[in-house]
Amino acid sequence: MSTVIDGKAYAETLRARIAESAAELKLKHDFVPGLAVVLVGEDPASQVYVRSKARQTVEVGMQSFEHRLPADTDEDDLVDLIGQLNRDPAVNGILVQLPLPKQVDSERIINMIDVQKDVDGFHVENTGRLSIGADSLVPCTPAGCLMLLKHYVGDLTGQNAVVIGRSNIVGKPVSMLLLREHCTVTIAHSRTRDLPSVCRQADIVVAAVGAPEMVKGDWIKPGATVIDVGINRITDESGNKVLVGDVEYDAAQKVAGAITPVPGGVGPMTIACLLRNTVIAACRQQGVDVPDSIG
Ligand code: NDP
Repeated sequence: MSTVIDGKAYAETLRARIAESAAELKLKHDFVPGLAVVLVGEDPASQVYVRSKARQTVEVGMQSFEHRLPADTDEDDLVDLIGQLNRDPAVNGILVQLPLPKQVDSERIINMIDVQKDVDGFHVENTGRLSIGADSLVPCTPAGCLMLLKHYVGDLTGQNAVVIGRSNIVGKPVSMLLLREHCTVTIAHSRTRDLPSVCRQADIVVAAVGAPEMVKGDWIKPGATVIDVGINRITDESGNKVLVGDVEYDAAQKVAGAITPVPGGVGPMTIACLLRNTVIAACRQQGVDVPDSIG
């Protein structure tokens, strides 16, 4: 039986530390970090995420600014809004909820965000800085994966890590973070040959595919650490809608040394890391040290 990596509990502790940091910044430096979230359209999943982000921002004592725009919003109107938020000193972090509607060029919008306020870490400059090992705002889900790994495994030096998925928002940045921790990193994707054998070499498996329970229990090396990023809504045998990850959890947890569940693993870490990035961004903009509790 493996250790269950409790992302929900870890995220709660992290949020408490963020709340302490926010209180300390207010007391010592008289400012309150602010996060602006922009939602275009009515995608139900995006609406849930944006609501949670706003609620948790306020709960940790920071300012939340929500901008909801209709689905047919013009790209130029969004460009204007980003410009305003870039100039607003009360806004330290800007997050544009993805996906954006078809008429909007997402890459253009993301790269318009002031790089110092890019708390999602998707701006091409932050992406580049991450890949050369420079200081940057790191994408939230990958940052959450790394925190959980370091908390449960400790030093990652020399571990064989297999990351399944090469997206710009999860697979690639998580690979860069693991490389920075001196892992030997293999990035697998849809064209990888014999994925089960590749996985069986891994001390660490990070699955970020979006395919329900694709990674089978017998792909996992005994004692390996498994981080399941996948969030898939499926209908189970009893007709209930349930969330499952990319890993066949019941089988994998019999073999793995430690494993994240879905839900309750990586998911809760994403917003906590977004709040942490907002505090870091605010401190850098104000020219003050990031409080030790979240540094
Ligand atoms: P993408 O669809 O952007 O990328 C999926 C990746 O998986 C691609 O690189 C693709 O390869 C690869 N892939 C697809 N099929 C296979 C296969 N059969 N074998 C090996 N690799 C395959 O997804 P995201 O990275 O955005 O998200 C991945 C998952 O993580 C989703 O379930 C998503 O919901 C979840 N997620 C969870 C978050 C959280 O907060 N916990 C945040 C973000 C995402 P190729 O490049 O060759 O097409």
